[in-house]
Amino acid sequence: LASISSRLAFRSARYCRLSVSVQPKLKLLVVTMATTTTKKMPPGCLLSFPDSAEQLTKLSRISSPSPPSSTIATPAIQEAGVANFARPLAEFDARFALLQSGLDFVQHVFPDKAMRDASSEADKKISEHQVDIEMRKDLYDRFAAVQDKLRTGGDSASAELTRYIERCVTDGRRNGLGLDEATRDRVKAIKTEMSSISIEFNRNLSEDVSSLLMDRAELAGLPDDFLDSLEKDADSGKLRVTLKYPHYFPVMKLAERPETRRRIELAFNTRCKEANLALLQRLLALRRERAKLLNYPTHADYALELRMAKNADTVAKFLSNLSEKLKPLQAKERARLLEVKRADCDRLGIPFDDVINPWDVRYFSNQVERLDYSVDHERLRQYFPIEKVTKGLLEIYQRILGLKFTQVTDCWVWNPDVTLYNVEDSATGEQIGYFYLDLYPRDGKYGHAACFGLQPSCLVDNGTNRTTSICAVVANFTKPTPEKPSLLTHDEVETFFHEFGHAMHNLCARTETYMFSGTSVERDFVEAPSQMLENWVWSKKSLALMSGHYSTGEPIPDDLLQSLVASRLANTAFFNQRQIVLSSFDQAIHTSPDPNLDICAEYARISNRILGIQPSEGSAFPANFGHLAGGYDAQYYGYMWSEVYSADMFCTGFGEDKVLSPEAGAAYRRCILQPGGSRDAVDMLRDFLGRDPTDAAFLKMKGL
Ligand SMILES: [Zn+2]
Repeated sequence: LASISSRLAFRSARYCRLSVSVQPKLKLLVVTMATTTTKKMPPGCLLSFPDSAEQLTKLSRISSPSPPSSTIATPAIQEAGVANFARPLAEFDARFALLQSGLDFVQHVFPDKAMRDASSEADKKISEHQVDIEMRKDLYDRFAAVQDKLRTGGDSASAELTRYIERCVTDGRRNGLGLDEATRDRVKAIKTEMSSISIEFNRNLSEDVSSLLMDRAELAGLPDDFLDSLEKDADSGKLRVTLKYPHYFPVMKLAERPETRRRIELAFNTRCKEANLALLQRLLALRRERAKLLNYPTHADYALELRMAKNADTVAKFLSNLSEKLKPLQAKERARLLEVKRADCDRLGIPFDDVINPWDVRYFSNQVERLDYSVDHERLRQYFPIEKVTKGLLEIYQRILGLKFTQVTDCWVWNPDVTLYNVEDSATGEQIGYFYLDLYPRDGKYGHAACFGLQPSCLVDNGTNRTTSICAVVANFTKPTPEKPSLLTHDEVETFFHEFGHAMHNLCARTETYMFSGTSVERDFVEAPSQMLENWVWSKKSLALMSGHYSTGEPIPDDLLQSLVASRLANTAFFNQRQIVLSSFDQAIHTSPDPNLDICAEYARISNRILGIQPSEGSAFPANFGHLAGGYDAQYYGYMWSEVYSADMFCTGFGEDKVLSPEAGAAYRRCILQPGGSRDAVDMLRDFLGRDPTDAAFLKMKGL
């Protein structure tokens, strides 16, 4: 990248050269990104999306030490300082991120399969390279030297750059770089083994093809169109029920026969039992070993050090405190579930056992929802045509955050369905960034909803220029046609709001470094800003802006709205206690010193204690708990933890009466979104709330 500063020059750049390299001694990476791309990108966009799979693969060969190369100075350890080492490295991070997103985003959205495949391959290579950089002792030693200088007054840096340097030293220490060579090598070996075990654990689950054969009578309760969609076994004539979500959830929710649900639940929770339990034991042993080598009491303490919670003790208290408070409501909900179960047993003429079994939970929760909170979701979605929702969503975000969105129609997009918007500050007219909306499904496209940060907003060119932020909201809503409108479910509207909230976080953050840009906050806080913005889809005032009957344009009738709002509390204690079971189990196995811990027995003990539910004999839920090997180890609690803060921010800063208030929105943008991860979340919260955060609002929203 010749000059990241000449942003306008890239407007119609037909030849973009990105090269990031260093002097011989401190060779970080040599990237030659010389593309002859013909794509017209928006002004300020430094991304370069390749034109073909061959080109992409060529670009990803980042290890060849060939010129051209720009350089980062290579100071001796004792001469390393902020200006000659730390800042250039912080800017190197941003360039690396740009290179990575240009190659990596392709696999999720590009229409061409060969390009998507090449992108996945490139992703692997770049990730390996990233691990190599993270394990570089020469960099660690220099960061440590700079940190010493800052502490003794021998050099100075901004608060954020100081934080950056401290984080680099901490990350290095957490990788064992401060220890002797043998230990360092062992930590690296552990890291490599853990990563391949994690991939295997989740691959076993995604490749599992177990299924059960059942006849229509056994599947009583399920709608005909579901039954008709099942594959028929040629020999027995029975229907094949797989354990994938589109089969598993409807059966657990609707199948009347307890025996049917019992069999499916057991099969589901015994998937990959032997293989994954062995992998999990090995993972736990490796995590325990690393914690010991690096001097942490437990793996949970290691994993939590850089989170808001900081240590295992705080998480344990958080969970037990919440669980206690939910108990009275849980008792009521349990009584209601059993009442519904008794009636159902009478209706079906089967004996009532007065117990909630693992295969009962979804089925009877669903009945309680239907009986006590009758929300007609099919009727409701007639009020959420996607054009109206999108228009209203953009309007609401512009209004509360003080932004102006303008559609850009003359730039390249990867598919005709994709739209691009320019974002400005509505008061000052300052250009802030761009977002892409890619809302409809296509073959080979990323299957969930997510926000991808593509270009960070941070300082470059020795701190003299700011890059413009670019991100993409990717979702899979039904595409409207001239004959048939696309009507979103309320769930989908909520998802849309949530992901767009991440986009706003990416766009509104104004940090110096890439490391703290956008949503790079503590992991147990990252969902909170978006969770808070979900509240807009439950409030009458904001719903009025984004809904209207698809044919008549009429607003949502009051009775429908009231039942919707009430349904937010259906089975809430049960649901939250279940989350507490999963979180507590996750903490338990990551704090236990016992190398022979019986993982399944531990799970059963916790489920019994908190939920009063005994797991099925012979089942192995932990072998199916993908989060344990998916980067959430000792961090599953984060889902609930961030909800506490999102509730506090909403109730205190907005509440029902200030839902559309630009003043509240401006404070939110300034205190929560703008700092990115450059400050501790708890300090940002204090600024916004004007006091320490509490769980009062969270409990109130849970009906307590
Ligand atoms: Zn999210």
